[in-house]
Parts: sequence; structure tokens; C-alpha cells
Amino acid sequence: MTTPRLFIVIPCYNEQEVLPITAPMFLEKLNSLARDGKISEDSRVLFVNDGSKDKTWEIISDLAKQDEHYIGISQSRNRGHQNAVLAGLMEAKDKCDITISIDCDGQDDINAMDEMVDAYLDGCQVVYGVRSSRETDTFFKRATAQGFYKFLAMMGAEVVYNHADYRLISSRVLQEFANFKEVNLFLRGMIPLVGFKSTSVSYSRAERLAGESHYPLKKMIALAVDGITSLSVKPLRLITGFGVFVAFVSFIGVLWAIITAILGRTVAGWASTTCIVCFVSGVQLICLGIIGEYIGKIYMETKQRPRYIISERTWEQD
Ligand code: UDP
Ligand code: MG
Repeated sequence: MTTPRLFIVIPCYNEQEVLPITAPMFLEKLNSLARDGKISEDSRVLFVNDGSKDKTWEIISDLAKQDEHYIGISQSRNRGHQNAVLAGLMEAKDKCDITISIDCDGQDDINAMDEMVDAYLDGCQVVYGVRSSRETDTFFKRATAQGFYKFLAMMGAEVVYNHADYRLISSRVLQEFANFKEVNLFLRGMIPLVGFKSTSVSYSRAERLAGESHYPLKKMIALAVDGITSLSVKPLRLITGFGVFVAFVSFIGVLWAIITAILGRTVAGWASTTCIVCFVSGVQLICLGIIGEYIGKIYMETKQRPRYIISERTWEQD
């Protein structure tokens, strides 16, 4: 096998503080992998600017001028982390043999890349980076993130535990993945669906080197809902199951009402009636909401809008 050409794909959104610190780290890693003969010299660090409002794109353009190993593409507007990663992967797929996607904030240990590339050289097509510890995360972030994975699994969305979007994917897998046309993206759940031999590599997650997280609780919940509704219809089944359960309980309630009526013990029960009406209408609204969530997804899918639009590149396209 010839030495593979690696593209490190890095989504960046408003990262002017951290990019000048981490960019040289990525380049250094690329160079050291090339020195060890694991990847070819013409490997690249590919930044994807996700419509940043600060100086991120200027920084990327400057880097590209300084060293040919840095290249960048810019999305026409902010589309979110998942779309930014996808744009980078699709850009890279015909130009390289392997990609590694990683966040630009230095939280994911770049030294795990050696092991990832080794696993690829051993024949794995996908290598998941898995966090071994979360000591540096706040208690809140750790608890919510772990709850996130457990909830996903419960709802039937299979994801690799504690794996975010730090992973190696070969261009072979990306060629197949390009046929997954859905616009609702949840990469960490979709990549396993492509199949091929995979493994995981564990690393410890550090703190952000600078700048602030763009994933507050609100976005994490949105990601969880996206993950569940794009990977599984289990919530719809749960609704049906719950409906059957409520119907059964109501049936018993009706029997009870009839019996007490026959025994002549009926009292005008305003409270119980109100409680039941409130409860059932609440349940119905929740169920409608869940069903609506899926219909919304269908609506977005039928539009078939582009999943990313690249407005600029740091190099001329051939
Ligand atoms: N990011 C992006 N678009 C967005 C939000 C985030 O490309 O709309 C990038 C961001 O620059 C970073 C990565 O996604 O490289 C992960 O974001 P962040 O570090 O804020 O999330 P956290 O690690 O706190 O979950
Ligand atoms: Mg981060």
C-alpha cells in the first residue's frame, strides 16, 4: 500500500481566539506523521469556515498563504457544526485517501491521530475517537453529555458511546457515504450505517484552549432530538404503546365508574373529570409534538435543499 494522503478536516465557527493557537499544532502533527512515513507529504489541514462573523476566515486565508499544507473553504453562511464537517469531508473525499475530522478548539487530543492512522494501515476504514475521561469538563457538561448518550440509546439511535465527531474516515467510506442524501445530519449516528471495518481509539478530552463553547444545553438538546428522530422511529412506537396503556387504564376507569354507578355511590366528580381531561390533553399534545417532529423532518427532506454551499476556497479549483 502506498502511503495515504491525509486531510484533517476542521470546522471553525467564530474561532479567532483559538485558531492561531491550534493551527500550528495540527500542522506539526501532520508533519510528524509524514516524517514517520505514515502519511504522504502532500497531506493537508483543511479548515472549514462555517460562516464566522469574526476574523476566522482572514486567519485561515493568511495561514494558507504561509504554508501550502493549510487550505480552507468557507461556507456561504453559518449552517452548524454537522454541515460544516460534511462540507469538509465531501470536499476532501476525492482528493485524499483518509480524512480525520476534529474540532478546532484543541479539546480533542491530536496525539490520538497516530493510533487512528495505524488502525487504518491495519485495514480499518473508520476509526472512532472515544473520550476516556471527562475530568476537565464541568460536572454539568459531563452529566448532560452522558445523559445524552444514554437517552439516545434508549430511544433506539445507536451511537458509539462517548464518541463525538473526532474520527478517521477513509475516502472509500466517504464515496459510499456521499449517497446518504438526507439533509438532517447526525454524522456520528450515520457513519456506522455505512458499515466497513471499524475500530475505536480512546483519548482524554482536555479543556478548550481559548474562546467559548458553542454547544450550550439548548443546542445539545436540539442535537439529541435530531439524532433520535433521524435514526429511529422508536418514539413513534412508544407513543402507540403509551396510547394503548392509557386506553387500558381508561377502560378500567370506565368499569369502575359503571360499578360505582350501579351501587348508587356516584358523586358529581368535577375534580376527577377535570384531572382526566387535563392529563389526556397533555398526553395528546406531547404525542402530536413528537409526530410533528417527524413530519417536520419529512418536510425538510422533501425540499432537497443543498446541505452546504461553499462560497470561497483558498486555492483555485481545477
Ligand atoms: N462549530 C461550527 N459551527 C457552529 C458551531 C460550532 O463549525 O455553528 C465548530 C466549532 O468551531 C468547533 C466545533 O464545531 O470546532 C465544536 O464546537 P464547540 O467546541 O463550541 O462545542 P463543544 O466542544 O463545547 O461541544
Ligand atoms: Mg469544543
